[in-house]
Amino acid sequence: MIKILAQYLQKNHFSKFDLKALLFDMDGVLYDSMPAHDKSWQQTMDEWGLKHLPNEFYLQEGRIGKSTIDTVFQRNLQRNATDAEVTKVYARKSELFQQYNSGELIPGATEILNYVQVNGLKSVLVTGSGQPSLLDRLDTHFPGIFTPETMVTAFDVEHGKPDPEPYLMGLQKGGNLKPNQALAIENAPLGIESAVAAGIFTIAVNTGPLPDSILTNAGASIVFHSMEELLEALPEILRLSRTITI
Ligand code: MG
Repeated sequence: MIKILAQYLQKNHFSKFDLKALLFDMDGVLYDSMPAHDKSWQQTMDEWGLKHLPNEFYLQEGRIGKSTIDTVFQRNLQRNATDAEVTKVYARKSELFQQYNSGELIPGATEILNYVQVNGLKSVLVTGSGQPSLLDRLDTHFPGIFTPETMVTAFDVEHGKPDPEPYLMGLQKGGNLKPNQALAIENAPLGIESAVAAGIFTIAVNTGPLPDSILTNAGASIVFHSMEELLEALPEILRLSRTITI
């Protein structure tokens, strides 16, 4: 672990960490919502007669809705969707998502957020989601953790993941932080690319069907297989981050 942390510092030209916040993605990290997203995207595109690829919606996860829709439109129709089509497709997808989403949390998510809080660190949400059904319930599921001031959602950014903008805004909302003052927790390749492009040490939690190699190739410094596994490792990661200098 110490080697991995040192590699990050070297690559990003920092001499040490000065952790103030953890930046959490939402779908697949806090909520077990990806199977419902995947199913509702697939069904929506099937209804529109548009072909999609295996695991496409896991690979596209984190993009804002319009971007995912345009990708599928381009492949099938060689053009972007019109604004009216985007609105229709996204409305149908959101309707199905609300039907299919179990609302289940990812096991270990609550414990990690609590651990972060008692250790005096801030939690910031950095999601590409614009689903009111999930965003509105964050405070019910994770009381007192996230406020609008510590949330970056689809409504806040011009460029979604994999652009660094969401995570750069996450650093700002964490208290105008530098990249070495935060860690990013992500499950999806484009989210990892976004956090890495923002210069943040990025931990992948692989809660979906993609192989680990896709997450490491996207730039994740380390891959865990559950939030519980990350919870177990977190005390050591925080301890090392306080002591390591290069
Ligand atoms: Mg995610």
